[in-house]
Amino acid sequence: MMNKYPDKSGYYGSFGGRFAPETLMAVLAQLEHQYQAIRKDRSFQKEFAFYLKEYAGRPTNLYLAKRLSTHLKTLKVYLKREDLLHTGAHKINNTLGQILVARRMGKTRIIAETGAGQHGVATATAAALFGLKCVVYMGAEDVERQSLNVFRMKLMGAEVVPVHSGSKTLKDAMNEAVRDWVTNVHDTFYIIGSVAGFHPYPAMVRDFQSVIGKEARRQFLAREKKLPDYLLACVGGGSNAMGLFHVFYEDASVKMIGVEAAGHGTDTRQHAATLNKGGVGVLHGSKSKLLQDGDGQVQVAHSIAAGLDYPGVGPEHAYYQASGRAQYVPVTDKEAIEGLKLLSRLEGIIPALETAHAIAYLSKLARRVKKTSTVIVCLSGRGDKDMNQISQFIS
Ligand SMILES: *Cc1c(COP(=O)(O)O)cnc(C)c1O
Repeated sequence: MMNKYPDKSGYYGSFGGRFAPETLMAVLAQLEHQYQAIRKDRSFQKEFAFYLKEYAGRPTNLYLAKRLSTHLKTLKVYLKREDLLHTGAHKINNTLGQILVARRMGKTRIIAETGAGQHGVATATAAALFGLKCVVYMGAEDVERQSLNVFRMKLMGAEVVPVHSGSKTLKDAMNEAVRDWVTNVHDTFYIIGSVAGFHPYPAMVRDFQSVIGKEARRQFLAREKKLPDYLLACVGGGSNAMGLFHVFYEDASVKMIGVEAAGHGTDTRQHAATLNKGGVGVLHGSKSKLLQDGDGQVQVAHSIAAGLDYPGVGPEHAYYQASGRAQYVPVTDKEAIEGLKLLSRLEGIIPALETAHAIAYLSKLARRVKKTSTVIVCLSGRGDKDMNQISQFIS
């Protein structure tokens, strides 16, 4: 098996790297250098563990979903309950980690870009916790669509800057954040929200999210006295999935399945199934798979789940797919709604629409396995945020 850490240039096999404007290269090199020292520092790890426990609410439970397992017949399903964390999803693990790095580097101003607003909220939360100035760039279109998250960010003291250029969505917000960073790098830290972006972000975000896998592995071993047969997680940029998968990388018997958003179907143009339908290219600073049209333009992604609605994916997932270490499967909007209903009715847990994609795949996996198998599902977030949207689909 190949080395699971990126090489010096930030490559996982042929994916990853650092595709950035010249003005940013020195900044990224400095970040990587400092981060390498910080991650090995015991007092940093202690401080990070403290905030994960006392503020975010870790460790999260690994819950045996008995009624769901009975329903599925051939699967014994454990849920890693990231939905129980403060702010209701796994994103807080990453923003707490990065904000602590920012503090160690002496930065006093935080910037981020956000699409649906979930990463913006998690960033504003961590910034408020430490009294740091926070600016969140958001496409003007998204500001309109996600007004509740904009309100949350403002309530916590963040400044939300609507970006009016281009398609007025995530891609344009990211360009604006990079522009800000280049200008204000002396006091500013840029927090990226998934295992994507220029090296060292994919590795750094994975480090912070791998607390999910570390806990889950320990909890599962204590309960079952063996390793799980399957790991299952939804994949947008890929941070909750990588946080779970990474820790089991060398456990060859453990099969990993990432679930992508197939939107209206992978045979339409309205989906976000990057690993299944995309080609190799560069997006947001690294080489990975992405959705492109015939002219090489980045395609607009679609998913019912705002957090999966991204035309790219973290480079390490592209590597896992190419090397066969993990498998990536598509699940449609419709199937995700069924998954959401299933978990709500059988377990009294309403998952986020993103997470519902992973739940939906359980029914397919149950038919695929030959003998009764164990599976850990990353329950990446809770569904409260989606209730308005879902009520239009369910009567
Ligand atoms: C943002 C989000 C995701 C997708 O992001 P990843 O980086 O792929 O984990 C998944 N689930 C929830 C609940 C989210 O908020």
